[in-house]
Amino acid sequence: MSTVTEMKMFENGIDYVQSAVVAFYSNPPPSGNELKYCVLHAFSGTLLILKERLRREHPALIWKDVTHLNDDSKNTVDYDALLNRLAQCANVRLKGKERELLDEVRQTRNKIEHYEFVLKADKTSELLGRLTEFLERFLRDELKKTLKEVVPVDVWRNISKLEAIAKRIEQERRKEEAARCKEEEAATQKWLTRARKYMRWSKPALARYADKCERPRLTKRDLDNPDGMECDECNEYSVYIAPGKKDGDIGLCIKPDCRAVHQLDSCAKCSAICVGELCDNCADYLQYQMAQD
Ligand SMILES: [Zn+2]
Ligand SMILES: [Zn+2]
Repeated sequence: MSTVTEMKMFENGIDYVQSAVVAFYSNPPPSGNELKYCVLHAFSGTLLILKERLRREHPALIWKDVTHLNDDSKNTVDYDALLNRLAQCANVRLKGKERELLDEVRQTRNKIEHYEFVLKADKTSELLGRLTEFLERFLRDELKKTLKEVVPVDVWRNISKLEAIAKRIEQERRKEEAARCKEEEAATQKWLTRARKYMRWSKPALARYADKCERPRLTKRDLDNPDGMECDECNEYSVYIAPGKKDGDIGLCIKPDCRAVHQLDSCAKCSAICVGELCDNCADYLQYQMAQD
């Protein structure tokens, strides 16, 4: 490995990241078209920095075919091979949030390269912020360096700004998520209040109801579901919508030994009322399709 390549890889990586940050904070601010170069450069820089870590493990590892060591006319590893080799040869496993972030930036890059794709400033700042945050961590743990010591001070200040933006957005996202969880929790509680009476139904009460279910169509609503739905407790087709429930979100298993009470939802595919995510028809169809693959 020539020392020139050795120097170049890391420095080039930092240079790309730096140019993305400089362009993002340029005056006048970048246009939509210029924003895309911020993401393209930041991602290219990130890949070079990841490759630098691989190169330190062994210089041949950055070539797609390791026998091409030092042959600059040959291809270096692509994204998937890079992450695989980092994990397998260097024991650097990028997973969870970090892996998701890299995949997301890569997808954005692909969209930019292959489609008409318009980037917005807030989305770009968030991506750049999360990416520099990741690089900060990666440089420290894997390359024993910090961004602060490898970029000029004004660039460093802007990187800090970007990271603060990304952190704030992440906090907002978490807050929204917590609010959504709370809402779901409240909805489940409400449902439980309505469903409790069926949970306490005696066997004879259920038997009387089951009797009616023999004449399949119970209410107008049940026209959607004239047959019993599959019960995921006892696996029989024995779940019917509770009587008089206009929401249709309570399902009763009429098997005397099961008597499960289900929270019904609408099928994610066809919106028929069902137990679980998909109705029995859509679930069967999906299974059939998967068997064909
Ligand atoms: Zn059942
Ligand atoms: Zn369906």
